[in-house]
Amino acid sequence: MLYLTEPEELSSLWPDEPSYRADQIRKWLYQSPVLEPADMTNLPGDLRDGLDLWPFAIETEQVADSGRTVKWLMRAPDGASIEAVLMGYPRRTTLCISSQAGCAMACTFCATGQFGFERHLQAGEIVAQVAYAAAYLARNGLGTSPPRVTNVVFMGMGEPLANYANVKTAIDRFTGLMGMSARSITVSTVGVAPAIRKLAEEPWRVSLAVSLHAADDELRTSLVPLNKRYPLEDVIGATEYFVQRTGRRASIEWTLIAGTNDTLEQADKLAAIARRLRAHINVIALNPTPLTSDQPPSRAATTAFLSRLTGAGANVTLRDTRGQDIDAACGQLRARSLTIGT
Ligand code: SAH
Repeated sequence: MLYLTEPEELSSLWPDEPSYRADQIRKWLYQSPVLEPADMTNLPGDLRDGLDLWPFAIETEQVADSGRTVKWLMRAPDGASIEAVLMGYPRRTTLCISSQAGCAMACTFCATGQFGFERHLQAGEIVAQVAYAAAYLARNGLGTSPPRVTNVVFMGMGEPLANYANVKTAIDRFTGLMGMSARSITVSTVGVAPAIRKLAEEPWRVSLAVSLHAADDELRTSLVPLNKRYPLEDVIGATEYFVQRTGRRASIEWTLIAGTNDTLEQADKLAAIARRLRAHINVIALNPTPLTSDQPPSRAATTAFLSRLTGAGANVTLRDTRGQDIDAACGQLRARSLTIGT
């Protein structure tokens, strides 16, 4: 499980090897990841044979959308589950990663939230998701999409800003050792206001997505319990600070739920918030989840909501939903949590 070792500590693992060995291994782990130690071609055979790379076993690998979406369910030795989804587009290949096993935020419409919190992921477990996808792409490609992870989004399981230290260390490794640009990494949060402010002080400037879903406190508290602790004005204020401090644009995520947050009144209030933040709005039609009867709105209601926003001068994109048939779409990740084989 070499991904759980601090990269700087690697050299201490092979005291009898020449000092360049650890550098070679560090390159294989972070610069050109491979699925198996056998592929680390410049290492002596007996050393390769003894290496254990991944802090998880791949329990399932599912492919959807004509090969453009791949979902992995990874299982840590303690039974914790980690899910990651790879999505290929014409000019980018995006990996959606998890920051926690399960989630404590309990957003009513999110499958991960419905099934509760398991534990935080360690930095190495977060980084290994990206390394695994990179190794998979190097071996298999992904149709005509770039065969490397060009973008990382913290939109899998968990609330990244509730696991701040590990997420920070992971981003340090992405931007340092792995050479990714901070701009291509998106931290998506349900609105942990103090942590958004803290993120604004980091040396790297990642992209920020704020999952708003409702434009007044009453409705938001009914969907996102954390809103009681950090009400809308706190979340908007922290986002405003992030934007000013980093010069990055923020985006607003809005999961559209029929009869709940798809009204024209919500659209008007949302447009006002987006204007204030100069934020782009990403609307996602709800992906139905097991524990509620919530449904996405009809096409007509969705169009009416979007036109109201654009009419008010907001920048809006309706995001496509990938991997619905393999429960890989936004909000659908939740490992069937009973451990197998114990
Ligand atoms: N906790 C973070 C990241 C994980 S959720 C956050 O809340 O942003 C990633 C995105 O998926 C969020 O915008 C979230 O609101 C959205 N989402 C959750 N459940 C969904 C569902 N059932 N259908 C569509 N989008 C959903």
